[in-house]
Amino acid sequence: MKNNDELTTLREENNRLKKILGALMAGYTTIGESSFSTGDVHFWHLGTNLFANLNMGDSFPAWSELVPLYAKYGVCDEDRAEVLELVSPKYLQENLSIGDSIVKEYRNNNGVYGEVKIVRIDEDSILMGFTERNQEITERQEKIYLDSLTKVKNRKYYDEQLSEKTLQALVVADIDHFKMVNDNYGHECGDIVLAKVAEVLNSSVRSSDEVARYGGDEFVLGFTDIKLEALEALLERVRQTVEKIRLEENPSIRLSMSFGAIYGYGLAKEMFSEADKCLYEAKVNRNTIIIKNK
Ligand code: GH3
Ligand code: MG
Repeated sequence: MKNNDELTTLREENNRLKKILGALMAGYTTIGESSFSTGDVHFWHLGTNLFANLNMGDSFPAWSELVPLYAKYGVCDEDRAEVLELVSPKYLQENLSIGDSIVKEYRNNNGVYGEVKIVRIDEDSILMGFTERNQEITERQEKIYLDSLTKVKNRKYYDEQLSEKTLQALVVADIDHFKMVNDNYGHECGDIVLAKVAEVLNSSVRSSDEVARYGGDEFVLGFTDIKLEALEALLERVRQTVEKIRLEENPSIRLSMSFGAIYGYGLAKEMFSEADKCLYEAKVNRNTIIIKNK
């Protein structure tokens, strides 16, 4: 039996360690420790359902099993290899000195940002924190990728994200004689037209499809899964809907749009130039859709 003084000292020590842990892992919702020699993982705090979809119940497998499992279900394809390498015991033992820490940001399969922090506590153990930074980071990302005028994704989004994706179809769409709207009715009216056209594009596609403003009056549509007939029907619907746009302020304005599309799996940035060639052909008569099936 310990005497009161000893208990008080232990409690104080415990509180001090809790504070250190809290400071080290501030912002991380799931916190645990792992030993290199035993491979055991001990979680102190499971603040989110980070591991819920791994169906492990209350018991956790060893670090060496948990990491690949989590990486498989909790990390997106593009980020997986990097996360796996970084959190491997071998890498950590060789590259992370005692007292040092590393932080790695990654996305899960839904594109939600997560972060893992690993601190080397001593020769044999590491402390790790996980967090899903859904709100904060996803919102921040959404803002930087939003075209403020048209409320669809912007060029930065195309360059950094969409262009690297594998798609089944990519469409480049451009408003016909848009300069005339600007010249005859003013730039503000042109802005309204851009927003209206973007709204038509956005509301014509499914939420899994992509719409981005490439620049000026040119938009890119990306589809990961669409039948050729569905794409044809969709573009025809958009073409007709754009023709029907009426502006309250200038009801006499008539709009049309031309479309160049490439169908068949490929990398978006490689499909773009082919779709752009189709658009160029479509611009001969304007108000036209040209789809190339590769
Ligand atoms: P085409 O049928 O060949 O496409 O002819 P066009 O007149 O539409 O020609 P083009 O696509 O080259 O014109 C794009 C115009 O869009 C030129 C530019 O002044 C205008 N523009 C670019 N960005 C904006 C914008 O943010 N707001 C407005 N109002 N106009 C813009
Ligand atoms: Mg144009």
